[in-house]
Amino acid sequence: SFPVITIDGPSGAGKGTVCLRLAQALGYRLLDSGALYRIVGLKAFEAGLLNELSLTEQVVADITELTQSLDIQFLPRDTGDVDIVVNGVNVAGEIRNETVGGYASKVAALPSVREALLALQKNMANESGLIADGRDMGTVVFPNADAKVYLTASAEARADRRVAQLQQAGERADYAAILTSIQERDERDENRSVAPSKPAKDALVLDSSSMNADDVFAQIKKFCQQ
Ligand code: C5P
Repeated sequence: SFPVITIDGPSGAGKGTVCLRLAQALGYRLLDSGALYRIVGLKAFEAGLLNELSLTEQVVADITELTQSLDIQFLPRDTGDVDIVVNGVNVAGEIRNETVGGYASKVAALPSVREALLALQKNMANESGLIADGRDMGTVVFPNADAKVYLTASAEARADRRVAQLQQAGERADYAAILTSIQERDERDENRSVAPSKPAKDALVLDSSSMNADDVFAQIKKFCQQ
């Protein structure tokens, strides 16, 4: 079987950047598991299934069925970008915002949704080495991974980075609103009963609050090569 490296941790800790660099350096494929939950969140929202404050049994069944009906493909392009094609439509540009991140964390708390996405994730390790980016990669999906990392950072540092990203893209950024949203999502992801976001027992825990992307990459690469 092929080597698997898991990188778990909250949004904005720098996982996306380091996972991409690791995948390129090692010639491995990349599993962006957050994108899967973002897709389900977006589709559930569009279907009007996330309107209620608490989800009824019927709504949970509908969201689960919707999840099972999705044909999801990650298609890397020569540019280094990855098209995320759902039932034939590229949704990569639509899922990378905090609103959809919030929908994702709601559907991610449903055990039946997680179960429906499990085989697809495990199968990604059957073709080549894999860098798996998520919350439960080291704890649930790839418990036998060759190296496990939990990359974290303070909520404030992550909000700062998000604000800088938005400003660079010429978009409006409200620090207080972003910080609140990050804290709410952390709270949901860390305290849910199924696959809570936490380090695996055998993971290297790295706090990137006062590190730059190059240092994070160098430390993790070194750890993976030990
Ligand atoms: O990492 P990203 O911000 O794209 O993830 C969006 C949401 O999807 C997270 O807040 C979390 O609720 C959920 N998620 C998860 N398990 C994963 C990856 C993401 O529950 N492996």
